[in-house]
Amino acid sequence: MLGNMQDGHLLISGLIEHAETYHTDSQIISRTVEGPIHRYTLKDAANRSRKLANALDKLGLKQGDVVGTLAWNTFRHFELYFGVSGIGCVVNTINPRLFPEQLTYIINHAENQYLFVDLSFVGLLESISHSLETVKGIIILTDKEHMPETTLQNVMCYEELIADESEEYHWPNFDENTASTLCYTSGTTGNPKGVLYSHRSTILHTWIVSSGNVAKISSSSVILPVVPMFHVNAWGIPYATAMFGAKLVLPGPLLDGASIFELIDQEKPDLLMGVPTVWLGLLQYLNETNQTLESVKTALVGGAAAPRAMIQEFEEKHNVFLMHGWGMTEMSPLGTATARTAEMDIMDVESRYDLQQRQGKTFYGVEMIITDDAGKELPKDGEAFGRLLVRGPTVVERYFKSNESALDKNGWFDTGDVAKIHPEGAMEIVDRSKDVIKSGGEWISSIDLENAAVGHPSVAEACVIGVLHKKWDERPLLLVVKVEDQDLSKEEMLVFLEDKVAKWWLPDDVIFVTELPHTATGKLLKTDLRDQYKEHLIK
Ligand code: AMP
Repeated sequence: MLGNMQDGHLLISGLIEHAETYHTDSQIISRTVEGPIHRYTLKDAANRSRKLANALDKLGLKQGDVVGTLAWNTFRHFELYFGVSGIGCVVNTINPRLFPEQLTYIINHAENQYLFVDLSFVGLLESISHSLETVKGIIILTDKEHMPETTLQNVMCYEELIADESEEYHWPNFDENTASTLCYTSGTTGNPKGVLYSHRSTILHTWIVSSGNVAKISSSSVILPVVPMFHVNAWGIPYATAMFGAKLVLPGPLLDGASIFELIDQEKPDLLMGVPTVWLGLLQYLNETNQTLESVKTALVGGAAAPRAMIQEFEEKHNVFLMHGWGMTEMSPLGTATARTAEMDIMDVESRYDLQQRQGKTFYGVEMIITDDAGKELPKDGEAFGRLLVRGPTVVERYFKSNESALDKNGWFDTGDVAKIHPEGAMEIVDRSKDVIKSGGEWISSIDLENAAVGHPSVAEACVIGVLHKKWDERPLLLVVKVEDQDLSKEEMLVFLEDKVAKWWLPDDVIFVTELPHTATGKLLKTDLRDQYKEHLIK
């Protein structure tokens, strides 16, 4: 027997309609690419999203067409999230930090019809425009006054495009499983792969990210997402802002410590979101200028493991709870988070840091298990570790344009991460399956070693890779970037690690480097380093 309830579709247009009706005056503050700080309300954003929708109709866009963005976190990008998906088209947020060949691949593979581009990326687009196969026109996200000279063809100005359009628009109703947004993963090998979200998966994810065991978003929240809107939809925060009427502070193109702190100081966010490298920059700036964070209560960190030293510094110097989250593009992206619990409030601080270092528990809607290489499920005992598999309505089923499902026969998606699950349910990432070091048949976690190494005050960044070894097949090699003007020897580094990891995990060598390579999403690019140092121990 079926239930007797209504069957309304969960659509992104419904979020912006709700926002303008019930959170009319909630503020969106943006640092613009042109420079000044821009302020308006959710009502203004809704009006301009409808003007944009009318303009998109006039450009001839039809449901299912793909529209790309190369843009920072600003109010115009926010409008595109709602205007484009609202009419049934797909927003393809493109990461401008990718290599030009990857950008070209994505734009052609997604069959982008139009591209909406910030001033910062006009030069980049000019350099690849000759190889774009489907793009009919380019809209520069600025006003008439700031329009640049460019060799690009069919160029329009965003403010002029929407200026004379009506604020009236009737958002169409359609199936909630319709595609809304397309993000490509920036894998370290092969072509990027597209993950095509639906309106339904996006709304379900918005509820998850906003919920009490995650970011606790409400109309009294003030959120500063440093995580880019071109990287998995800024973890869903633009949608959550509309759903709950939070105040949103968008950092535009300036993501350095000083610029982020300036916004924090002016706009008083209580919630920050970003990857560890961003927080390293902010903490360094705060140390140098002897300042502290006053309004911030929680900083959500994810995308890479948060070192204990960072958790500790946020807490002890700034009274900020560092909430560790884990996820991936294929999961919309959020998979787990370490919510602060009543038990955490009364436990000793070192035990709490232990819990915060884990990636946390998953939520209703996402299932999670670990298995061995043969697919046998492993116990959730905090000891066994294996391949981390997930499933649920916010998890990918297949990559964009692929004929094959990305799932195994039981519907699980293999995350490519290796993890433990503790008896109370918290997941702990051990490594990426391709980064784990296999020494004499046993596994060594490169992440644990890196986290231990960055606990040394003279270490700015650390990277551990497995390199060939005659007896043990692979052994860990530690690469360290020192904090400027600090002295540190290989012996000192190894002594420091001695009581932090098992003896047989200690790296066979330590190499000091001036910088480490990163992917477009800020993760260490270990493939290049493995190639470079492969034979370091067998020469
Ligand atoms: P992306 O799809 O670019 O967001 O990358 C997802 C991958 O980033 C995951 O599969 C993990 O390997 C890694 N990752 C994300 N969050 C964390 C975290 N908190 N700790 C360790 N690794 C993480």
